[in-house]
Amino acid sequence: MTKLSPVSVLEIDLDAVLHNLHYFKSKLQTHTKVLAVVKAFSYGLDAVAIARFLEKNKVDYLAVAYAAEGVALRKAGVQLPVLVLHPQVPNFQTLIDYQLEPNLYSFYTLDAFVKIAKKNHLKDYPTHLKFNTGLNRLGFKKEDLSQILEVLKDSACLKIQSVFSHLAASEDASEKEFTKNQIDQFSNLTTQLQKQLDYRPILHLSNTSGVLNYAEGHFDMVRLGIGLYGFGNTPEETSNLKNVGSLKSIISQIHVLEKGTSLGYNRAFVAVKTTRTATIPVGHADGISRSLGNGVGSVQIHHQKCAILGNVCMDMLLVDVTEVPCKEGDPVVLFDSQETVEEWAEKSNTISYEILTGISQRIPRKIKGDS
Ligand SMILES: *Cc1c(COP(=O)(O)O)cnc(C)c1O
Repeated sequence: MTKLSPVSVLEIDLDAVLHNLHYFKSKLQTHTKVLAVVKAFSYGLDAVAIARFLEKNKVDYLAVAYAAEGVALRKAGVQLPVLVLHPQVPNFQTLIDYQLEPNLYSFYTLDAFVKIAKKNHLKDYPTHLKFNTGLNRLGFKKEDLSQILEVLKDSACLKIQSVFSHLAASEDASEKEFTKNQIDQFSNLTTQLQKQLDYRPILHLSNTSGVLNYAEGHFDMVRLGIGLYGFGNTPEETSNLKNVGSLKSIISQIHVLEKGTSLGYNRAFVAVKTTRTATIPVGHADGISRSLGNGVGSVQIHHQKCAILGNVCMDMLLVDVTEVPCKEGDPVVLFDSQETVEEWAEKSNTISYEILTGISQRIPRKIKGDS
């Protein structure tokens, strides 16, 4: 078998994930369960490695967005219960085959699942009900409650394992009133539902910033995504967390441009003085936004910032190393701290989530830690 040596890698620090998990647990009551959100390759990192690690470290639940993501976890041997946040009717049989648990958020999904559950002669299959409390994305209305109960009464095939909703602006201090209203709505509708059921589903509402900002919104379980990967909703909170993903590469080539020489596509950079540049083998196809080109973003070489010059290419980017003693083959850090990810996010007019999830699957993932 050919052995490839990756040049550009996304390193994933499992010890940092564990640190972050413990940090969030310290914010929770001891009985509050933790669901780890590992959708989108665990926010662009590595869903299988992180899910296995979290299973060993005793999180209670996992969530993915789509059925295929859940199937990948099962094929890798992950046994924790997996909530599929956005299951799709055509994949319901696959969910059952892989013991994945659907979010039922509408009569369309509920009725379709009951039908297929009956066909499979299931009993008490774990499912989850989602209510819309203001995000207006997926979820039943509270007015649907009595009709949902009707359906449940004659369907012993399924069990409501949990009831949940999602906050629309939990990170936003100026939306406290709106968020508190979502918490109240959730509290009221689950109280009503509870009265009609002879068992108690797990109640959950908060994502990472909900956990940090609203102790009254924790209920029985919290859903942690970005926080596990090192990002809180303020720089202070982030400083309590450890960075998980680091993107690294090496210098492919050095060029010296004389004054007046252009660089890269569309000749977007023209040297105003003698300029030494390094070519780095990571480009927009790897998830480095073109908006970081033309001096907006930078990378680090030997701990010094080197501005990205000209346009980011598909497979490469070009940086200014005029002041940095370095040579071909030397290491390059694209990001290895939350600060750099946040800086890239700000400069390319997005959020940390998009920087992480955007790192393409072409970049090999390298797992470290797990002590
Ligand atoms: C993605 C997602 C989360 C995780 O949110 P973070 O802000 O990353 O903690 C929680 N709940 C739902 C429904 C989600 O889609």
